[in-house]
Amino acid sequence: MKDLIIAANWKMNKTVPQSISFISDLDIRISQWKLNPKLNKLEILIFPPAISLYPMNGRSEFISLGCQNIYFEESGAYTGEIAVDMIREYSKYALIGHSERREVFSETDEEINKKIKTSLSAGLTPLLCVGETLDEREAGNTFTKINAQLKNDLSGLSSEEIEKIVFAYEPVWAIGTGKTATPEQAQEVHEFITNEINKISGKENKRMILYGGSVKPENSKELLTKKDINGALIGGASLNVDSFFAIIEKSLELV
Ligand code: PEP
Repeated sequence: MKDLIIAANWKMNKTVPQSISFISDLDIRISQWKLNPKLNKLEILIFPPAISLYPMNGRSEFISLGCQNIYFEESGAYTGEIAVDMIREYSKYALIGHSERREVFSETDEEINKKIKTSLSAGLTPLLCVGETLDEREAGNTFTKINAQLKNDLSGLSSEEIEKIVFAYEPVWAIGTGKTATPEQAQEVHEFITNEINKISGKENKRMILYGGSVKPENSKELLTKKDINGALIGGASLNVDSFFAIIEKSLELV
């Protein structure tokens, strides 16, 4: 029996009306378990496009919200960026270091590190994504890559600050490709991440580490039963309320 976080990353999908209709539908489906104490061990989270955060806020007592990206400066001449002050009332989490931000928008570890610090000081929980590319895996560099990302992204943070972070292992080769890491491959990296974070923070602790990469109703349970996998970050399968709900339903059996 464990605590799990089931998170949807909608990326650049869904208009405001579509976001509202999704959360309303999902809320009705989840409310059937409102008297089930297991629901307290499951956090259901959505990262919608930033423009949907305000209109989605307050529509479900069972669903948390997070922002897909934030900027590390407080305010000013940064056209197109989102400051934490603009979303902190409507967001519990900030997704940081997603591979699409790292690759498509050339985000560096230094910027990711600043974003984590800004999120923490605003009271948001950072959800930090790390993961290797296919080339790195094939060259046997998975652990070297993840070790470097963690060291750089967590640089200068105290162990108390690191305690507040939720992590996601997202092998880049499994994101949106239909290829999923096997539960054994994922567990191996999750265990490595746990040990690395413990080393960096100087404290042995349980860490919340989600797996992400082509998670769907057919494979979620096998992955989530692994010891160090504490949830899932879901892209494609979270866009459809039936498949996202099916993953939530299966997860409830594990908590
Ligand atoms: C993601 O975007 O974080 C993700 C894991 O996407 P998908 O589930 O589509 O692979």
